[in-house]
Amino acid sequence: MTSLAGQVALITGASSGIGEAIAWKFAEAGTKLVLIARRSERLSSLKSQLTEKFNAQVETVTLDMQDTPKLKQLPSALPDGFQQVDILVNNAGLALGKSGLQGTSLEDIETMVNTNVLAASLLVRLFCNGMLERNRGHIINISSIAAKQRYPGGGIYCGTKSYIDAFTEAIRHDFVNSQVKVTAVSPGAVQTEFSNVRYKGDDAAANATYEGMQPLLAADIADQVMYAATRPANVQIGEIVSFATTQASPWNVARPLADKSKA
Ligand code: NAP
Repeated sequence: MTSLAGQVALITGASSGIGEAIAWKFAEAGTKLVLIARRSERLSSLKSQLTEKFNAQVETVTLDMQDTPKLKQLPSALPDGFQQVDILVNNAGLALGKSGLQGTSLEDIETMVNTNVLAASLLVRLFCNGMLERNRGHIINISSIAAKQRYPGGGIYCGTKSYIDAFTEAIRHDFVNSQVKVTAVSPGAVQTEFSNVRYKGDDAAANATYEGMQPLLAADIADQVMYAATRPANVQIGEIVSFATTQASPWNVARPLADKSKA
Protein backbone atom coordinates (compact mmCIF):
# COMPACT_ATOMS: atom_id res chain seq x y z
CA MET A 1 0.00 0.00 0.00
CA THR A 2 1.06 3.57 -0.62
CA SER A 3 0.88 5.72 2.50
CA LEU A 4 -0.89 9.05 2.14
CA ALA A 5 0.76 10.51 5.24
CA GLY A 6 2.47 13.79 4.45
CA GLN A 7 1.27 13.85 0.84
CA VAL A 8 -0.51 17.01 -0.36
CA ALA A 9 -4.00 16.46 -1.77
CA LEU A 10 -5.98 19.21 -3.47
CA ILE A 11 -9.73 18.52 -3.50
CA THR A 12 -12.15 20.71 -5.42
CA GLY A 13 -15.77 20.85 -4.30
CA ALA A 14 -14.86 20.00 -0.71
CA SER A 15 -17.70 21.95 0.88
CA SER A 16 -20.25 19.12 0.58
CA GLY A 17 -20.99 15.63 -0.62
CA ILE A 18 -18.29 13.48 -2.18
CA GLY A 19 -15.51 16.07 -1.89
CA GLU A 20 -16.13 16.59 1.81
CA ALA A 21 -16.20 12.83 2.40
CA ILE A 22 -12.86 12.45 0.60
CA ALA A 23 -11.41 15.21 2.79
CA TRP A 24 -12.39 13.25 5.91
CA LYS A 25 -10.79 10.02 4.66
CA PHE A 26 -7.62 11.74 3.52
CA ALA A 27 -7.28 13.74 6.75
CA GLU A 28 -7.61 10.52 8.75
CA ALA A 29 -4.76 9.08 6.65
CA GLY A 30 -2.48 12.03 7.50
CA THR A 31 -2.73 13.81 4.14
CA LYS A 32 -2.11 17.55 4.00
CA LEU A 33 -5.17 19.11 2.39
CA VAL A 34 -6.01 22.01 0.09
CA LEU A 35 -9.79 22.30 0.10
CA ILE A 36 -11.55 24.40 -2.54
CA ALA A 37 -15.15 25.58 -2.98
CA ARG A 38 -17.18 28.78 -3.08
CA ARG A 39 -18.87 28.45 0.33
CA SER A 40 -16.05 29.62 2.56
CA GLU A 41 -17.96 29.16 5.81
CA ARG A 42 -18.42 25.47 5.02
CA LEU A 43 -14.72 25.11 4.29
CA SER A 44 -13.78 26.89 7.53
CA SER A 45 -16.06 24.64 9.54
CA LEU A 46 -14.64 21.52 7.86
CA LYS A 47 -11.09 22.72 8.48
CA SER A 48 -11.85 23.21 12.19
CA GLN A 49 -13.34 19.73 12.48
CA LEU A 50 -10.47 18.01 10.64
CA THR A 51 -7.88 19.90 12.65
CA GLU A 52 -9.58 19.05 15.92
CA LYS A 53 -10.19 15.37 15.13
CA PHE A 54 -7.03 14.43 13.22
CA ASN A 55 -4.66 17.33 13.88
CA ALA A 56 -4.80 17.70 10.09
CA GLN A 57 -2.91 20.37 8.16
CA VAL A 58 -5.57 22.07 6.05
CA GLU A 59 -5.54 25.08 3.76
CA THR A 60 -8.83 26.37 2.40
CA VAL A 61 -9.23 28.35 -0.81
CA THR A 62 -12.48 30.11 -1.57
CA LEU A 63 -12.69 29.95 -5.33
CA ASP A 64 -15.36 29.85 -7.99
CA MET A 65 -14.14 27.27 -10.50
CA GLN A 66 -15.59 29.49 -13.24
CA ASP A 67 -13.23 32.32 -12.32
CA THR A 68 -10.61 31.26 -14.83
CA PRO A 69 -8.11 34.11 -14.17
CA LYS A 70 -8.11 33.32 -10.44
CA LEU A 71 -7.95 29.58 -11.10
CA LYS A 72 -4.83 30.07 -13.20
CA GLN A 73 -3.16 31.83 -10.25
CA LEU A 74 -3.91 28.98 -7.86
CA PRO A 75 -0.50 27.22 -7.83
CA SER A 76 1.37 30.38 -6.90
CA ALA A 77 -1.31 31.37 -4.37
CA LEU A 78 -0.82 28.21 -2.32
CA PRO A 79 1.27 28.63 0.83
CA ASP A 80 4.67 27.00 1.39
CA GLY A 81 4.32 23.33 2.12
CA PHE A 82 1.18 23.01 -0.02
CA GLN A 83 2.46 23.96 -3.47
CA GLN A 84 3.70 20.52 -4.48
CA VAL A 85 0.37 18.80 -5.02
CA ASP A 86 0.71 15.01 -5.01
CA ILE A 87 -2.95 14.12 -5.43
CA LEU A 88 -5.38 16.25 -7.43
CA VAL A 89 -9.02 15.31 -6.96
CA ASN A 90 -11.12 17.01 -9.64
CA ASN A 91 -14.48 16.66 -7.92
CA ALA A 92 -16.30 20.02 -8.16
CA GLY A 93 -19.15 19.65 -10.60
CA LEU A 94 -22.84 19.90 -11.16
CA ALA A 95 -25.84 19.21 -13.33
CA LEU A 96 -28.48 21.90 -13.86
CA GLY A 97 -32.00 20.95 -14.91
CA LYS A 98 -33.30 17.87 -16.68
CA SER A 99 -35.77 19.36 -19.13
CA GLY A 100 -33.95 18.79 -22.39
CA LEU A 101 -31.52 21.00 -24.26
CA GLN A 102 -34.31 23.13 -25.70
CA GLY A 103 -35.26 24.13 -22.15
CA THR A 104 -31.74 24.65 -20.85
CA SER A 105 -30.62 28.24 -20.42
CA LEU A 106 -27.46 29.41 -22.10
CA GLU A 107 -26.13 30.41 -18.70
CA ASP A 108 -26.65 26.91 -17.30
CA ILE A 109 -24.79 25.41 -20.24
CA GLU A 110 -21.85 27.72 -19.58
CA THR A 111 -21.88 26.93 -15.87
CA MET A 112 -21.80 23.17 -16.41
CA VAL A 113 -19.15 23.25 -19.12
CA ASN A 114 -16.93 25.78 -17.35
CA THR A 115 -17.09 23.94 -14.03
CA ASN A 116 -17.09 20.30 -15.09
CA VAL A 117 -14.83 20.53 -18.13
CA LEU A 118 -12.77 23.72 -18.36
CA ALA A 119 -11.79 24.07 -14.71
CA ALA A 120 -10.95 20.39 -14.33
CA SER A 121 -8.78 20.49 -17.46
CA LEU A 122 -6.96 23.65 -16.41
CA LEU A 123 -6.23 22.23 -12.97
CA VAL A 124 -4.64 19.12 -14.42
CA ARG A 125 -2.52 21.27 -16.72
CA LEU A 126 -1.52 23.55 -13.85
CA PHE A 127 -0.34 20.72 -11.59
CA CYS A 128 0.74 17.90 -13.91
CA ASN A 129 4.14 19.31 -14.82
CA GLY A 130 5.16 19.46 -11.16
CA MET A 131 4.06 15.86 -10.76
CA LEU A 132 5.99 14.83 -13.85
CA GLU A 133 9.14 16.63 -12.68
CA ARG A 134 8.94 14.88 -9.31
CA ASN A 135 7.93 11.66 -11.09
CA ARG A 136 5.10 11.04 -8.65
CA GLY A 137 1.49 12.05 -8.41
CA HIS A 138 -2.08 11.01 -8.91
CA ILE A 139 -4.90 12.71 -10.77
CA ILE A 140 -8.32 11.48 -9.73
CA ASN A 141 -11.22 12.77 -11.82
CA ILE A 142 -14.76 12.30 -10.54
CA SER A 143 -16.78 11.29 -13.57
CA SER A 144 -20.20 9.59 -13.55
CA ILE A 145 -22.19 6.74 -15.04
CA ALA A 146 -23.78 9.61 -17.01
CA ALA A 147 -20.65 9.45 -19.18
CA LYS A 148 -21.56 5.95 -20.32
CA GLN A 149 -25.34 5.75 -20.06
CA ARG A 150 -26.65 9.01 -21.49
CA TYR A 151 -30.26 9.98 -20.83
CA PRO A 152 -32.90 12.47 -22.00
CA GLY A 153 -32.43 15.84 -20.34
CA GLY A 154 -28.76 15.14 -19.64
CA GLY A 155 -27.30 16.51 -22.86
CA ILE A 156 -24.80 18.91 -21.36
CA TYR A 157 -24.12 17.04 -18.11
CA CYS A 158 -23.62 13.69 -19.88
CA GLY A 159 -21.48 15.49 -22.42
CA THR A 160 -19.25 17.02 -19.74
CA LYS A 161 -18.75 13.68 -18.00
CA SER A 162 -18.08 11.95 -21.33
CA TYR A 163 -15.36 14.55 -21.82
CA ILE A 164 -13.92 13.67 -18.40
CA ASP A 165 -13.78 9.99 -19.37
CA ALA A 166 -12.06 10.76 -22.67
CA PHE A 167 -9.70 13.28 -21.05
CA THR A 168 -8.76 10.82 -18.31
CA GLU A 169 -7.95 8.09 -20.80
CA ALA A 170 -6.01 10.37 -23.15
CA ILE A 171 -3.77 11.95 -20.50
CA ARG A 172 -2.92 8.49 -19.18
CA HIS A 173 -1.21 8.06 -22.54
CA ASP A 174 0.57 11.41 -22.11
CA PHE A 175 1.98 10.43 -18.70
CA VAL A 176 2.78 6.81 -19.56
CA ASN A 177 6.53 7.30 -19.20
CA SER A 178 6.17 8.47 -15.61
CA GLN A 179 4.97 7.31 -12.23
CA VAL A 180 2.01 9.71 -12.42
CA LYS A 181 -1.29 7.84 -12.17
CA VAL A 182 -4.65 8.86 -13.65
CA THR A 183 -7.94 7.49 -12.39
CA ALA A 184 -11.62 8.12 -13.10
CA VAL A 185 -14.22 7.41 -10.43
CA SER A 186 -17.69 7.04 -11.91
CA PRO A 187 -20.57 6.72 -9.47
CA GLY A 188 -24.25 6.11 -9.99
CA ALA A 189 -26.77 7.84 -7.73
CA VAL A 190 -25.09 9.25 -4.63
CA GLN A 191 -27.18 11.03 -2.00
CA THR A 192 -25.56 14.46 -1.70
CA GLU A 193 -26.65 18.00 -2.51
CA PHE A 194 -26.26 17.12 -6.19
CA SER A 195 -30.00 16.75 -6.88
CA ASN A 196 -30.88 19.84 -4.81
CA VAL A 197 -28.53 21.78 -7.07
CA ARG A 198 -29.87 20.11 -10.22
CA TYR A 199 -33.49 20.90 -9.36
CA LYS A 200 -32.61 24.38 -8.09
CA GLY A 201 -34.27 24.20 -4.70
CA ASP A 202 -37.19 21.96 -5.69
CA ASP A 203 -36.60 19.63 -2.74
CA ALA A 204 -39.49 17.36 -3.68
CA ALA A 205 -37.90 16.62 -7.06
CA ALA A 206 -34.50 16.21 -5.42
CA ASN A 207 -35.81 13.80 -2.80
CA ALA A 208 -37.70 11.78 -5.42
CA THR A 209 -34.33 10.87 -6.96
CA TYR A 210 -33.52 8.69 -3.96
CA GLU A 211 -37.04 7.73 -2.87
CA GLY A 212 -37.61 4.06 -2.08
CA MET A 213 -34.01 3.02 -2.69
CA GLN A 214 -30.76 2.94 -0.81
CA PRO A 215 -28.47 5.19 -2.85
CA LEU A 216 -24.72 5.26 -2.69
CA LEU A 217 -23.37 7.52 0.05
CA ALA A 218 -20.60 10.07 -0.29
CA ALA A 219 -18.48 7.94 2.06
CA ASP A 220 -18.79 4.99 -0.36
CA ILE A 221 -17.21 7.05 -3.12
CA ALA A 222 -14.54 8.36 -0.74
CA ASP A 223 -13.68 4.71 0.02
CA GLN A 224 -13.14 4.13 -3.70
CA VAL A 225 -10.91 7.19 -3.99
CA MET A 226 -8.91 5.97 -0.98
CA TYR A 227 -8.56 2.55 -2.59
CA ALA A 228 -7.23 4.05 -5.83
CA ALA A 229 -4.90 6.44 -4.00
CA THR A 230 -3.34 3.80 -1.77
CA ARG A 231 -2.46 1.10 -4.30
CA PRO A 232 1.21 0.13 -4.56
CA ALA A 233 3.44 2.13 -6.91
CA ASN A 234 3.08 -0.42 -9.73
CA VAL A 235 -0.74 -0.39 -9.70
CA GLN A 236 -2.72 2.30 -11.52
CA ILE A 237 -6.48 2.02 -11.16
CA GLY A 238 -7.96 3.19 -14.46
CA GLU A 239 -11.56 3.55 -13.41
CA ILE A 240 -13.98 2.59 -10.68
CA VAL A 241 -17.64 2.40 -11.73
CA SER A 242 -20.22 1.84 -9.01
CA PHE A 243 -23.99 1.71 -8.70
CA ALA A 244 -26.41 1.49 -5.85
CA THR A 245 -27.44 -2.14 -5.60
CA THR A 246 -30.91 -1.45 -7.00
CA GLN A 247 -29.67 0.74 -9.84
CA ALA A 248 -28.59 -0.52 -13.26
CA SER A 249 -28.57 2.79 -15.16
CA PRO A 250 -29.72 6.40 -14.65
CA TRP A 251 -33.21 5.36 -15.80
CA ASN A 252 -33.41 1.86 -14.37
CA VAL A 253 -33.73 2.14 -10.61
CA ALA A 254 -35.73 -0.31 -8.50
CA ARG A 255 -37.35 1.23 -5.45
CA PRO A 256 -38.11 -1.68 -3.14
CA LEU A 257 -38.61 0.58 -0.14
CA ALA A 258 -41.15 2.84 -1.87
CA ASP A 259 -44.28 1.10 -0.59
CA LYS A 260 -42.94 0.93 2.95
CA SER A 261 -42.12 4.64 2.93
CA LYS A 262 -45.69 5.43 1.89
CA ALA A 263 -47.24 3.16 4.52
P1 NAP B 1 -22.62 18.30 -4.18
O1 NAP B 1 -22.91 17.80 -2.82
O2 NAP B 1 -23.56 19.27 -4.79
O3 NAP B 1 -21.14 18.89 -4.19
C1 NAP B 1 -20.64 19.63 -5.29
C2 NAP B 1 -19.40 20.37 -4.86
O4 NAP B 1 -18.91 21.09 -6.01
C3 NAP B 1 -19.67 21.38 -3.77
O5 NAP B 1 -18.62 21.34 -2.83
C4 NAP B 1 -19.65 22.72 -4.50
O6 NAP B 1 -19.14 23.73 -3.65
C5 NAP B 1 -18.65 22.42 -5.62
N1 NAP B 1 -18.85 23.35 -6.72
C6 NAP B 1 -19.89 23.40 -7.60
N2 NAP B 1 -19.75 24.43 -8.44
C7 NAP B 1 -18.59 25.06 -8.08
C8 NAP B 1 -17.89 26.21 -8.54
N3 NAP B 1 -18.37 26.95 -9.56
N4 NAP B 1 -16.75 26.56 -7.93
C9 NAP B 1 -16.26 25.84 -6.89
N5 NAP B 1 -16.87 24.74 -6.42
C10 NAP B 1 -18.02 24.36 -7.00
O7 NAP B 1 -22.55 17.09 -5.22
P2 NAP B 1 -21.66 15.75 -5.24
O8 NAP B 1 -22.60 14.64 -5.53
O9 NAP B 1 -20.78 15.65 -4.06
O10 NAP B 1 -20.83 16.02 -6.57
C11 NAP B 1 -19.42 15.87 -6.64
C12 NAP B 1 -19.03 15.32 -8.00
O11 NAP B 1 -19.59 14.02 -8.16
C13 NAP B 1 -19.55 16.14 -9.19
O12 NAP B 1 -18.52 16.25 -10.16
C14 NAP B 1 -20.69 15.30 -9.73
O13 NAP B 1 -20.90 15.49 -11.11
C15 NAP B 1 -20.18 13.90 -9.42
N6 NAP B 1 -21.22 12.86 -9.38
C16 NAP B 1 -22.24 12.93 -8.49
C17 NAP B 1 -23.21 11.92 -8.47
C18 NAP B 1 -24.39 11.97 -7.53
O14 NAP B 1 -25.36 11.22 -7.76
N7 NAP B 1 -24.36 12.75 -6.47
C19 NAP B 1 -23.10 10.85 -9.34
C20 NAP B 1 -22.03 10.80 -10.24
C21 NAP B 1 -21.07 11.81 -10.22
P3 NAP B 1 -19.73 25.22 -3.51
O15 NAP B 1 -21.18 25.19 -3.87
O16 NAP B 1 -19.48 25.57 -2.06
O17 NAP B 1 -18.90 26.03 -4.43
